[in-house]
Amino acid sequence: MIQAVIFDWAGTTIDYGCMAPIAGFMAAFEAIGVPITMQQARAPMGMLKIDHTRAIAASVKERAISEEEIQKAYAVFEEKLFASLQNHCGVIPHVLDTVRALRAAGLKIGSTTGYTSAMMELVLAQAEQNGYRPDFCIASDKVPRGRPAPYMIWKNLEEFGIENPRHAVKVGDTVADICEGVNAGCWSVGVLLGSSEMGLTQAEAAALPSAELAALKETARQRFYAAGADYIIEDIRALPSVIEEINQRLAQNAPRKLMTPGPLTTKAAVKQAMLTDHCTWDQEYKTITSELMAEITAISANKDYATVLLQGSGSYAVEAMLTGFCGPEDKFLLLTNGEYGNRMAQTMQKAGKAYVQLASDMCQPLCVSAAKAALEEDSAITGVVFVHCETTTGVLNPLAELCQLAKSQGKKVLVDAMSSFAAYDIDMPGLGIDALAASANKCLEGLPGLGFVIAKKALLEESRGNACSHSLDLYAQYKELYQGGGKFRFTSPTNILLALCEAVRQFHQEGGLPARQARYRENHRILVEGLACLGIQPIVPPQHQSHIITTFHLGKLDFTRLYEHLKQQGFVIYPGKLTDIPTFRLGNIGDIYPGDMERLVEIFAAYLAA
Ligand SMILES: *Cc1c(COP(=O)(O)O)cnc(C)c1O
Repeated sequence: MIQAVIFDWAGTTIDYGCMAPIAGFMAAFEAIGVPITMQQARAPMGMLKIDHTRAIAASVKERAISEEEIQKAYAVFEEKLFASLQNHCGVIPHVLDTVRALRAAGLKIGSTTGYTSAMMELVLAQAEQNGYRPDFCIASDKVPRGRPAPYMIWKNLEEFGIENPRHAVKVGDTVADICEGVNAGCWSVGVLLGSSEMGLTQAEAAALPSAELAALKETARQRFYAAGADYIIEDIRALPSVIEEINQRLAQNAPRKLMTPGPLTTKAAVKQAMLTDHCTWDQEYKTITSELMAEITAISANKDYATVLLQGSGSYAVEAMLTGFCGPEDKFLLLTNGEYGNRMAQTMQKAGKAYVQLASDMCQPLCVSAAKAALEEDSAITGVVFVHCETTTGVLNPLAELCQLAKSQGKKVLVDAMSSFAAYDIDMPGLGIDALAASANKCLEGLPGLGFVIAKKALLEESRGNACSHSLDLYAQYKELYQGGGKFRFTSPTNILLALCEAVRQFHQEGGLPARQARYRENHRILVEGLACLGIQPIVPPQHQSHIITTFHLGKLDFTRLYEHLKQQGFVIYPGKLTDIPTFRLGNIGDIYPGDMERLVEIFAAYLAA
């Protein structure tokens, strides 16, 4: 929750229109023989006054101004300012009431300023006489650098004991103020009426025709917006409702652990990797893309294979794989024991591809001998397709045995390894897997929006013309990505791709597959053992259960109530997908650790006890 509001002084809380410094700056430059306009005097408003003087000097077109002249002008400015400052400490309308309301809500009132400490001594005394006194005040000359540097805000945070800058709001009336808030990592709010940006006295503002006032406001608003303001308000009275909205947003964005099969909890570093904007065509970006594809290939395959990235969720990659490798002469045997298997059948059907589906019990792994019988029965079948870990239930299907069967009969093997890739050892060349599909947001612990297919290059090369969708054309995507040196066919999800690069880097940093697999196993063990002690049992027999996701009997529990309770405690669970028995599912993949699992089990225990 927001704990402090840090106000600027002149133009925000006192001195409507921020008038005090203007006459001083104009006189100062007059004194060195370069008269300036009021606009020039105002433009750098908010900075430490000597920096402000330098910024005006830099804006003078007529001639270069030496540092010596700047110092001379500044001396004139100071003298002028000190002479008039006291007359410019009137509190801006609604400030006192608003500050009172904020304090009543438990917020601290901080402040920063472009004035020096000597100036602030005067201002503080006068403002206090006028009824306004913040809890803390620091001037620009007390920190290494004034605005737009964030140091003054950070001093406020230090004073108030606030560790997270997102728990403070900076309010100001100049572009320098907005930038200071952004640079500090706070919420940055711009105020329009009374601002230096508009540059009107209260009387001038009142006298201005409303259309002209509106135009001035709009210009100021656009400047605040461009500087990165989170909120732009008409006057300070809107602040409490802005803070209420920010508090709601903070609550919505509270840290939580997703006990789901994807999208998953991800590391901050993965999300931060998204902060750079890249262009699809950029050489640097294309190199990043090529290297990422090579890295992904290396996790499960060798140089005979290539990774083809594809925009979209995992299902897009599955669809591109199935339709891309099912040519006119092909017919696939779909072995299914869950919803993801069914989804593949629907995909084949809609695409008009030849297939037979052999559906079996969702709580049991696929049966190798039944698959063998199906292959023997229909010699037209050219490929075997199945899901490795059926996320519907958490059943792990017998990958090696099914591959061995298919290979022994000379069939292609295509695997949906969405939820098992990077969590199980999948030796594609060793097992003879022709292609697999997976996505960024499962066990690689990246963000959703990017799928990929890893396939034998030879197979990709001969897959031309198989696709029945223009955008999900795996062959075309492969050609463009590899011949174009890492260029996507259509707009690339650039930020998501950068996040995936970081996720892959983190995967290796953890210790690669062995370490990740060990962590997931341990997560899973703690979960299953812990819940078993509470009488909550999995539906899949332990020997067929994956360490990815587990379906539990819901028993007499109400899912919605359980869900809401756990969410309040920071854990998000998943509904079951079985139609005949009430169940719920818990994933234990993502940026989740044994300590999280222990906490979850404790929360379950407390919930059941209550
Ligand atoms: C997550 C997942 C998919 C892809 O589902 P999307 O909703 O498209 O991300 C496909 N197969 C399995 C087994 C999955 O776990």
